[in-house]
Order: sequence, then structure tokens, then C-alpha cells
Amino acid sequence: MSQQMSVREAFLEASSFLKETDSKNTQEPSQVCRWMLEALLEWKHNDFYLRWHEPFPIDKKQKWKDMLNRKAEGEPVQYITGSQEFYGLDFKVTQSVLIPRPETEILVEKLMQECRQLWPDSEPVIADIGTGSGIIPITLAVHNPSWKLVAVDISDQAIEVAKQNAIKHNVMDQIEFVHGDLLRPLIENKRKIDVLISNPPYIPSQDMKELQIEVKDYEPSNALDGGGDGLYFYEKMIRQLSDLSVYPKIIGFEVGQGQANQVAEWLQSLDQWNEVYIVNDLAGIGRHVVASGPY
Ligand code: GLN
Repeated sequence: MSQQMSVREAFLEASSFLKETDSKNTQEPSQVCRWMLEALLEWKHNDFYLRWHEPFPIDKKQKWKDMLNRKAEGEPVQYITGSQEFYGLDFKVTQSVLIPRPETEILVEKLMQECRQLWPDSEPVIADIGTGSGIIPITLAVHNPSWKLVAVDISDQAIEVAKQNAIKHNVMDQIEFVHGDLLRPLIENKRKIDVLISNPPYIPSQDMKELQIEVKDYEPSNALDGGGDGLYFYEKMIRQLSDLSVYPKIIGFEVGQGQANQVAEWLQSLDQWNEVYIVNDLAGIGRHVVASGPY
């Protein structure tokens, strides 16, 4: 990189470097370079084309080289920039947490509708199991300032990240963070939960090695691996439901491809809800299973 390079030139050079060395990456090189530059230079998204004729700051060259090399090795851009947007909010992510996926926005949206319908004038207590970066409870809290939430995770590091996100979005007073295994802490503390949400690990163990490098080598396997058939965590949570002091009135699970019918069947067989239905994602895949009612 020459001394007088502009940001635009650095961007073009980096994009073609990543295109050439890119066999480990599925993320689009010019998009990725833009995100990394915006993070490095602390520019707002809309600044990019307005400011890209500015000189590239010399003191940021080494950091930029490191970022590019990490990306060339296959690291997801979100871990390099340390952030991912979800439901219009910016979340901190580290390698201790799964990178939020856009389909989870559909689950949050659906559950928000269900809750507002069921509790128009009061506040449900909502538990998110395996909260990771905390996207689910934090988004619900930001949009519903009177709701109370419990966020459970077995990973202390994940809880740490989720807490930082709650502080960032000013919702610490609405969310209780609990370290523990699935519903166990709620059962032990006899917590009455109105709504249970979870996007647990659901990749069948034997498929873990087939995942793209960005996922397989960088995202935490304990946030991905769902046991033999990928259904381990649903089965365990559904078994644990009867040990809660009351059944939650609403349940919402995110599931992997081909898993929705089985999870819906297990919930139906408990005979606790009026309705158990499947919500498709934008690709038409059954992605969420929701149980709700009686109203
Ligand atoms: N609840 C978090 C999310 O939806 C983490 C999920 C996970 O780690 N499996 O992104």
C-alpha cells in the first residue's frame, strides 16, 4: 500500500486481494471490505461513498492489513469488526457467541405479536434459553420497555457479551441474566415463565464437518452442535417443561431445516396449547415452531 493511497484505492485493492485468495470465504469481498473499512475508520454506513476520496490514515495501515489477513483465512467479517446488526440494532459479537442470523428476526417479530395480543394491558415474563449475544431478549426489551425477561446461557463468556449488549442498549434493568443448563435454573428457582423462546444449537453432529469454514472453524461449536439428529436440545427442553411450576402460555423455537414437523409434534403431544404452528423463513423453509393459547 503506497503512502498516499485514498480509502477508495485501499478498498479496491483489498477487494481484489480477497477475490483472489478467497477460497475459504463465502462472504462477498467488496461488501466485506466496506464493512471492515467502516469499522476501522469508525465511519457511519452512509459516509462510505461520500468520504472514500479521503487519504487512508497511515496509522491504521497495520490494523487494516491484520483485518484483511484474518478475512483471507476465512474468519467471518462480524468477528473481525466485532458487530452484527439485528432487527435494526447493533450487537457486539465475539467468537464466544453465534453470529445473529436474519431469520431469527422473524421469530422475534412473531413472538412480539403473540405477546401483545395475549397481554395487551399487562407484562409477560419471557425466558430466552441459550441467549448467546442476547439478541432476542434485548430486542424484545428495547421494543417493549415494560416487559421483563430472563436470559439463560450455559456459557459464562456468552452471558458476558449479552450483558455488554444489554448495557449498550440500555435495558439491563429489564433483563435478568442467568448462568445454567436450559430450563434447569428456572425449574430450580420455581420461576413462573409466561413465554419461552429458544434458538438452540440444531446442526446434526455428523453435519458439523460439512459446514463452511467460516462457521466450522470460527463460530462456537457449542452454539451449533445439536447432537446426533440435531434435535437433542428441543427434546430435552420439551421434557423439562413439565417440571416448571406452570407451562408457558407461548413457546417459540427456531429449528433447522427438516426439523419443524418433529418439534411441532412433540409440543402437540403435550396437549397444553390451542395451536401449534410452523412459520416459514424467506426461503420457504419451516424455521420456527410456535405453540400458543389458550387465550
Ligand atoms: N439466541 C442466540 C441467537 O439466536 C444464540 C443462539 C445459539 O447460540 N444457538 O443468535
